Amino acid sequence: MPTFEEARSIILGKIVPIGCERVPLLDAVGRVLAEDVTAPWDMPLYDNSAMDGFAVRAAECTGEGTTLRVAGFVPAGEVADEELQPGCSIRIMTGAPIPPGADAVVPVEETEERDGMVLLRERVIPRQHIRFRGEDVPHGETFATAGSLIGPPEVSMLASFGKAFLSVFRRARVAILSTGDELIELGETPRKGSIINSNALSLAAAVREAGAEPIILGIARDNMESHRKLMIEGLKADALITSAGVSAGDRDFVRDCLAELGVEQVFWKVDIKPGGPTAFGIKEGRPVFALPGNPVSTMITFDQFVRPALLRMMGHSRVFRPLVTATLLDDVRKKPGKLTFIRVSVEMENGKLVARTSGNQQTGILRTMLRANAVAFIPKESGNLAAGEEVKVQLLRDDVTMTER
Ligand code: AMP
Ligand code: MG
Repeated sequence: MPTFEEARSIILGKIVPIGCERVPLLDAVGRVLAEDVTAPWDMPLYDNSAMDGFAVRAAECTGEGTTLRVAGFVPAGEVADEELQPGCSIRIMTGAPIPPGADAVVPVEETEERDGMVLLRERVIPRQHIRFRGEDVPHGETFATAGSLIGPPEVSMLASFGKAFLSVFRRARVAILSTGDELIELGETPRKGSIINSNALSLAAAVREAGAEPIILGIARDNMESHRKLMIEGLKADALITSAGVSAGDRDFVRDCLAELGVEQVFWKVDIKPGGPTAFGIKEGRPVFALPGNPVSTMITFDQFVRPALLRMMGHSRVFRPLVTATLLDDVRKKPGKLTFIRVSVEMENGKLVARTSGNQQTGILRTMLRANAVAFIPKESGNLAAGEEVKVQLLRDDVTMTER
C-alpha cells in the first residue's frame, strides 16, 4: 500500500497534459498558456510623461529659479510634433508623448504658472518623470511563456499588446460516476434506506472549481451490467472518477469492472485516514480515480489526489495547495499508523495562523467539513497532539479571518 506521498507521485508520474485550444483573452483567465508570447512592439510605444506637469529642457532649469514660456499643451491622446524651443516649456498630461527636444518633465506641484509663463524652483534632472519607449518590455522580448497561469496582470499585458486570442491548455472533461443501489437522484424524496447522490454534485463542484468540465454520468447500480455500461461511457472522457463500491464487499463492483474494461490497476488503497480505500488506474493515458463513497472521504481524496492530477492535465506546474504551519488550539486524538487529515478552522491571530478542529472528525460527519476552511496533515507516526503544538495545514479557501487581540 503506497504512502500518501508515494500515491501522489505515482499519480502525477502517469499524468500527461491534454491538448490546447485557441480562446478569446478573457476565457483564458485561470488557465495555462500553451504558447510563448513575444512583444510585437516596444512598451511603452513612445516616450511619455509620468506626471501632469511641464516638458522642459533640463539644462535650462538650474534650480536658481527658471522662468519658461508655456508654448503649448499636450493632453493625453494628443501629440506635439513641433520641437520644443529654447526658453520654452510645454504643458503635458500623464501618458502624453514627450515633445521633441524636451528631456524632462517637471510635476505641476513644483511649479507656478502665471500669465503664460511657468516658474520652476527646483533643479531639473535630465530624464526625470519620463517613461521611456521600450523600458517596460522591449520589442521582441518574450514576456509570457508557455506554462504561465493567466491572471489579471497577464491579461493586462496581453491586452496591451493587442493579443485578442491565445493558445491555452484546454479544460479536462471529467466523467463522474456514482455507484450504489441505495442512491436516488436529487429531486427525489429519500425514504428509509435511500441516500441522495450528493457525491455526483460535490465532485462536479470540485471539478468545476479546479477549472475542468464535469460530466455527470448518473448512478451505476450494484451489478456488473450497470457498471459496465456507464464506465464504457466514462472512459471516453479525459478522466473518470467513481465514488463508492470500491472495497472488497460482495456489492462492490468498481474494481472488477474496471479490470474487465482494461484499466491498468496502479494502486487500490492508500495509507491515509480518511480515504484509505482510494484506487487509481489508467487506460490509454486516461486516469481513473475510484474514490470512497463516504461524502467526506470523497471530497478529501478528490482534493488530495484528483485535483492535482486535473491541474497537471491542464498544464499547471504548481498543482498542490501550499502547506503552511499553524498552531493547534485544541488537543487532537490520534493513534500512530496513518497520515490523518483533520478538518480544521484556521484563522490569523496577531499575524500567526492558528487552527481549531472543526469538531467531530468521524467520516460520517459532514457538518464539520462545512465549518473547516483547511485540513491539517497529522503525520503517520504521530500520536495525540496537544494544544500549542504546531501542525501543517493546507488552506482550502482564502476567506481566512484576521484578528488582533
Ligand atoms: P460503499 O463504499 O459503496 O459501501 O459506500 C460507502 C458509503 O458512502 C455508504 O454510506 C454510502 O451510502 C455512501 N455513498 C455512496 N455513494 C454516495 C453518493 N453518491 N452520495 C452520497 N453518499 C454516498
Ligand atoms: Mg455501495
